[in-house]
Amino acid sequence: MINVTKSYMGNLEKFKAYVDGIYASRWLTNQGPLCCELEERLKDYLDVRNIVVVSNGTMALQVAYRALGLTGSAVTTPFSFVATSSTLQWEHIRPVFADICPDTWNLDPARIEASLQEDTGAIVATHVFGNPCAVDEIDTVAQRHKLKVIYDGAHAFGVQQAGQSVLNRGHVTTLSFHATKLFHTIEGGAIVTNDDDLAERVRLMTNFGIADYETIEGLGTNAKLNEFSAAMGLCILDDIELILEQRAEIAHFYTRHLGDYLQLQRVAPDSEPNFSYFPVALANHRAMLSARAALQAADINPRRYFYPSLDTIDYLQPQQAQPISRGLAQRVLCLPIYPGLGRNIQQRIVDTLLRQCDSPLLPLAPLRRAL
Ligand SMILES: *Cc1c(COP(=O)(O)O)cnc(C)c1O
Repeated sequence: MINVTKSYMGNLEKFKAYVDGIYASRWLTNQGPLCCELEERLKDYLDVRNIVVVSNGTMALQVAYRALGLTGSAVTTPFSFVATSSTLQWEHIRPVFADICPDTWNLDPARIEASLQEDTGAIVATHVFGNPCAVDEIDTVAQRHKLKVIYDGAHAFGVQQAGQSVLNRGHVTTLSFHATKLFHTIEGGAIVTNDDDLAERVRLMTNFGIADYETIEGLGTNAKLNEFSAAMGLCILDDIELILEQRAEIAHFYTRHLGDYLQLQRVAPDSEPNFSYFPVALANHRAMLSARAALQAADINPRRYFYPSLDTIDYLQPQQAQPISRGLAQRVLCLPIYPGLGRNIQQRIVDTLLRQCDSPLLPLAPLRRAL
């Protein structure tokens, strides 16, 4: 079975050399040398002012909300991985959804104000599939209502917009370095911010609030990254250009062959994407199910990212229904994309999908109309 992704492993000899070092020093966690080296190299590569690596992308979101002192409610996107809103609920911040743009699939800045509550303190938006949000428009709304802006940048590793790292936008951007992500540390994540004081608070919070052996500065938790994970990250970072190149090649192949038949995400025109995912939207729910069945019969396992639309989750009720997100969540499949995915498999995926488009049940026309 060909899955939607395959974890990138990096060079084993290099990883073993790092492990030898860890065995020699017995420094396994707590701001070890590999963790510090990874932070330095990521700061440089991502072109950001402050980056704190953490144990996973979910803790990155939770610590970010805490460090910003968020309470009350936050306006957020219904079309994302569940962690974007579950972390809010976990921190006793009520997620209130606003719908997405039908073409970019990101939080629609024009819909935020209608969702604002008396107690709204923040906007939490995802650069979904690595596509930068309408950051300028979101800034304008945030400034008008004195809201904090948190970007869930779990998909946006290395994404540039107008020649700048999109990770520098908002008060905080969080990253996930989970094994399935473009760049990973097995489990891991990071918090990025331009605000030096905030970065300092984040550092304390991720280590129990401990400032030194005898000083506890405030409430904290444990969100530290361990040295084995940092070693994996260092190995993978060495190969990042190759990873991006190979992903781009696959994405271009899919776009060339499927772009006329399936709806693709409209990517911000001045952005440099990272091809972390390759989502396609079928004409309707039935067409999506049928395309998925055809792919599965051909030993291809696409994923329904992101289903269900988060506004339908039981524990987040009551919510206003978000029809654009619900509709899209019924139609999207993410196709396999990862370094090493053979051209023959890519061709099989394209052929299978194009045959669907030609089937009498799903004629080409409705698919084209979906564009
Ligand atoms: C993966 C992901 C997360 C969670 O990251 P973990 O490292 O798995 O905790 C959060 N948000 C989005 C959008 C993600 O894709």
